[in-house]
Amino acid sequence: MKELEEVLKDWEPVIGLECHTELTTLQTKMFCGCRLSHDDEPNTNVCPVCLGMPGALPAPNKAAIQSIVLAGLATNCEIMKRSMFYRKNYFYPDMAKNFQTTQGPIAFCMGGWLDLEVTGAAARERYDDGTLTPGPEGGYIAHVGITRIHMEEDAAKMIHVGGIDGRIDGADHSLIDYNRCGTPLIELVTEPDLRSPEEARLFMEKLRQIFLTLGISDCSLESGSMRCDGNISLRRRGTKKFGTKTELKNINSFKSLHDGLEYEIRRQAEVLEEGGIVYQETRHWETSTKRTLVMRTKETADDYRFFPEPDLAPYDLSEEFIEDVRSRLPELPDARRDRYAQSFGIKRSDAAQIAGDPDVAKFFEAAMEGKDIKLARSVANVILNDLAGYLNAEGKTVATMSITPAQVASLADLLATDAITSSQGREVFQAMAETGKDPAAIVDERGMRQVSDLSALEPVVESVLEACPDQVAQYKGGNTKVIGYLVGQCMKASKGNGNPKLFNQLLSQKLG
Ligand code: ADP
Ligand code: ZN
Ligand code: MG
Repeated sequence: MKELEEVLKDWEPVIGLECHTELTTLQTKMFCGCRLSHDDEPNTNVCPVCLGMPGALPAPNKAAIQSIVLAGLATNCEIMKRSMFYRKNYFYPDMAKNFQTTQGPIAFCMGGWLDLEVTGAAARERYDDGTLTPGPEGGYIAHVGITRIHMEEDAAKMIHVGGIDGRIDGADHSLIDYNRCGTPLIELVTEPDLRSPEEARLFMEKLRQIFLTLGISDCSLESGSMRCDGNISLRRRGTKKFGTKTELKNINSFKSLHDGLEYEIRRQAEVLEEGGIVYQETRHWETSTKRTLVMRTKETADDYRFFPEPDLAPYDLSEEFIEDVRSRLPELPDARRDRYAQSFGIKRSDAAQIAGDPDVAKFFEAAMEGKDIKLARSVANVILNDLAGYLNAEGKTVATMSITPAQVASLADLLATDAITSSQGREVFQAMAETGKDPAAIVDERGMRQVSDLSALEPVVESVLEACPDQVAQYKGGNTKVIGYLVGQCMKASKGNGNPKLFNQLLSQKLG
């Protein structure tokens, strides 16, 4: 297979996503009163409705419909006043009714969009054909249409025992847990507007940020409460007609979505360039071997014998209901990002990262409570570097850690006022995370404050000047850049404890 970069010169990827999100924050299932919990003993949260017993009648969960309307409003969709539930018929033990209740041509939410700001390395990955809309920080904006968001129910969870990778192939028996059956699920379908694996990844990430902010799901890719299928085809650059797509399933991380799509681009290009045809099929992304394998050839809508659900009346939403949901919309990540960038003067991409996670955003605002705006940059740095790194390494989240906003603010203050260096800052952070002590106490305990004490720094500067006569001569000859090297030597001599700004000042004084 050719390298991606080569392929992209001739071929344009066309990508559309189908994202399923379980509404895990609700109390009960979609069409019955069973408790929503995947952690309980298997097959304990079940009843005649979700087990598909004859004669059992479904009743829609109003809170789930509030959640999907919230999702629609947050993604610029039109909320449909009347929509219907349909039966999607199929035979598989994960749905005892032999059909999934879903929606037909008209869903609760139709025709929305989201804009992605693509910057940095992500922007460089996109092949620029001269049509990109410029965006902030030298990047571009990708406008992604949302076809619809519809309401449906999840199927039971199946565990195939004895096969490879948990797949049914080669398994000797399967277990079924109907606790998950009937879990309210919303499916968002995008238009085929995405043009790179990176855009697809960013879209999924953004959707997750929005749904977390709305509080409608825990959006866990790991546990499968959020999953995304990637549809992808190629067309020759400069042509309009779409090619045949394949659909990637089993995507359980942002990285898998990106890597799986990248692999498909290279695979499809090879097939097409050898004069072959791409079959419309569902493929499985295998993380361990980093390739996609055929799962099944594509079934069509006809195979499912879709028809309106006779046990549920068409669902009407009143203007009051929609307005009531609208009044509950929280500040969304984009608006929050803009507010942080404007009122705190922090970098737009930093603001976006903080605003993207509601827990981190809350933490940031708590740390800044009553503080001078000037501290914001330093607080943002501690959160995005030290804190994020620590949480990653420990497998913790802002919600499960014990570091407080006040501690982060006080560390940020020590850094912003140059009382400690950035390398000391990292040490203080580590100690603070381990012991729960306040940064100021740690700094005192370890005698770190002396670093800004000139009388302690001067002898270091003098010994460095003495040891580096060549660099001193270069400086005096006009090469003032060499001071960077001398500062480095001073830092080394002080074992990283000196204040680099003060070293720089002292050196220029003595050399000047
Ligand atoms: P299907 O009939 O296979 O369900 P849909 O038209 O419903 O296909 O689209 C499903 C998803 O595939 C959508 O996200 C859509 O944007 C995307 N899609 C449709 N056609 C293409 C294509 N030719 N290439 C890439 N993605 C596509
Ligand atoms: Zn039930
Ligand atoms: Mg479809």
